[in-house]
Amino acid sequence: MSLLDLIVIGAGPAGMTAAIYAKRKGLSLLVITDSVGGQVSSTGRVENYPGLGGVTGPQLVSAMKKQLEGLSVDIKLGRVSKLEKIGDNFRVTTAGGNAYDARAVIIASGSHWRELGVPGEKEYKNRGVSYCATCDGPLFAGMDVAVVGGGNSAAEAVLDIINMVSKVYLVVRSTLKADKVMVDRIMASDKVTVLTGYTVERIHGNDFVEHLDIISKDGERKTLNVGGVFVEIGLSPNVNFARGLVQLNDRGEIAVDGYCRTSVPGVFAAGDVTSVPQKQIVVAAGEGAKAAMSAYAYLSIQK
Ligand SMILES: Cc1cc2nc3c(=O)[nH]c(=O)nc-3n(C[C@H](O)[C@H](O)[C@H](O)COP(=O)(O)OP(=O)(O)OC[C@H]3O[C@@H](n4cnc5c(N)ncnc54)[C@H](O)[C@@H]3O)c2cc1C
Repeated sequence: MSLLDLIVIGAGPAGMTAAIYAKRKGLSLLVITDSVGGQVSSTGRVENYPGLGGVTGPQLVSAMKKQLEGLSVDIKLGRVSKLEKIGDNFRVTTAGGNAYDARAVIIASGSHWRELGVPGEKEYKNRGVSYCATCDGPLFAGMDVAVVGGGNSAAEAVLDIINMVSKVYLVVRSTLKADKVMVDRIMASDKVTVLTGYTVERIHGNDFVEHLDIISKDGERKTLNVGGVFVEIGLSPNVNFARGLVQLNDRGEIAVDGYCRTSVPGVFAAGDVTSVPQKQIVVAAGEGAKAAMSAYAYLSIQK
């Protein structure tokens, strides 16, 4: 394939918006992504995207995808394994061994759920262990479950499932740091038991999760009889392929300035993978637009 103007890595809201803007600027463009839609695909309802009132995640993805198809944006499905600078240009290599060269790159590879790393977690993934209360909550209707985490993700998860399940144990390592309005609602519910100062030791069961072992800072152990464990301890940016090329911050996110520029001229980044603190669809879309406009300005000067 000949040298492209721009490669966009990822097709969540950031990558798809970047592609729309870049295509409309007339850039030669390729989107490389391992899925179309990103996290939005697994979102139940999106109530905060302006102009749409309320849509399901898949409906929003489908509308964005349709817009890309209407613009004839070229999308290649593949997992990017390496991004490197070759002379003045950049080479993007996929896990399948295909390589694509471009004069500029936008990284919009988003993030994935952080794992606990305890015995039983991998074994019971999708058999009682979930990372998305919004997506999987209804599967646990009427059951006793645990939510692990102490931030807004964990609090949102509890409030998402509270009306479906029978009981929720909220296992918090240190203190509950979620927004006060959510903490107040959790504390007011007689369905929730908050266990602060506990970490998870092990998840076990038979075909599905049956128990969760937790341990306090003082070594006190408890076994919770639960049919589900929601791991809600935050997100980890998808940056492995760019490690060593672009500068990351102390949370492992790609450091960007107000123009979505990374530490490497010609490499831009947008959305959840970056140091921009607000991880939201509308923010990711806005950052994707900014990254495309910055890439266009960069390419115009290089010509
Ligand atoms: C359960 C849940 C509910 C949410 N609800 C809302 C909500 O109601 N409102 C709201 O505003 N926000 C919500 N969010 C947050 C929102 O979904 C994210 O902020 C947004 O999707 C970030 O967009 P992004 O494009 O930066 O990344 P992502 O959506 O993560 O997309 C990243 C893309 O990059 C691709 N990718 C990753 N690594 C590679 C690789 N190595 N090679 C190729 N492609 C790669 C992925 O396949 C994906 O297409 C929710 C998130 C979750 C998980």
